[in-house]
Amino acid sequence: MQVLILGGTSEARRLAARLADDARFGAMLSFAGRTESVADPGVPYRVGGFGGTDGLCEHLRREGYRALVDATHPFAAQMSRNAARAAGLCAVPLVRLEGPPWSPLEGDRWLEVATMAEAAAALGPAPRRVLSTVGRLEVGAFAAAPWHEYLIRAVDPFEPPLPRARVIAARGPFELAAERALLERERIEVLVSKNSGTPSTYAKIAAARELGIPVVMVSRPHLPAVTTVPEVSLALAWLETQLLAPAGRRT
Ligand code: NAP
Repeated sequence: MQVLILGGTSEARRLAARLADDARFGAMLSFAGRTESVADPGVPYRVGGFGGTDGLCEHLRREGYRALVDATHPFAAQMSRNAARAAGLCAVPLVRLEGPPWSPLEGDRWLEVATMAEAAAALGPAPRRVLSTVGRLEVGAFAAAPWHEYLIRAVDPFEPPLPRARVIAARGPFELAAERALLERERIEVLVSKNSGTPSTYAKIAAARELGIPVVMVSRPHLPAVTTVPEVSLALAWLETQLLAPAGRRT
């Protein structure tokens, strides 16, 4: 059974690796191509957009995919919307692979906001030393609060569109001790994070808690309601049910 996995997350890579070892499936892992180089996933992959919902639908039909797994990052809302629409249009079964968001624990000092503009406003009127981990594409929102000093962590280096900003390029996973050391060394006063729920990037949240540093936490966008599983093994189980379902009656 040919399976298209929409990726950009470590879970997508893990699922693709599981399917590559399973003769019942032929899997293709898809990347948007946002980063300068794609770390070789060791399984068949493609790079680049499909051309919206219609393009994705056409791609699914042309390549004969029998199942679609949306394993994109929880903030890749456009891709998830396109996937939901295309799956409906082309009658290709869709499952979303997405774990739960993080929840605050005792000692956490979170300020939860809905948008990047709200995150920028939440930093307040007094200058602060900010660590931003929201990604390269969305730091522009912080131009509305240029009086803060920003340390921006992103996968690739880039020229920040902010007057008082430095960029450190790093790709997860990140370890707790290193995250604590970064926050201390840079004398970070507030962390800005998306609530991705991703285990491999949680260490910064735990480090902020340990050091009593507040976190401006951007909530996940609303996505279409589709069948969702929280982990790779359950995505595999869902794919197995599709394997057994008669053609044309898969859900
Ligand atoms: P987005 O806004 O939801 O998607 C914009 C467009 O990029 C989509 O319409 C699609 O183009 C293309 N695209 C996105 N994911 C794709 C994929 N896996 N394969 C092929 N095309 C894809 O996405 P985004 O927020 O910019 O994120 C881009 C990628 O980075 C995603 O794959 C996501 O998993 C990963 N990522 C995102 C974040 C984040 O915070 N947003 C964090 C970590 C990783 P067409 O319409 O032309 O098909």
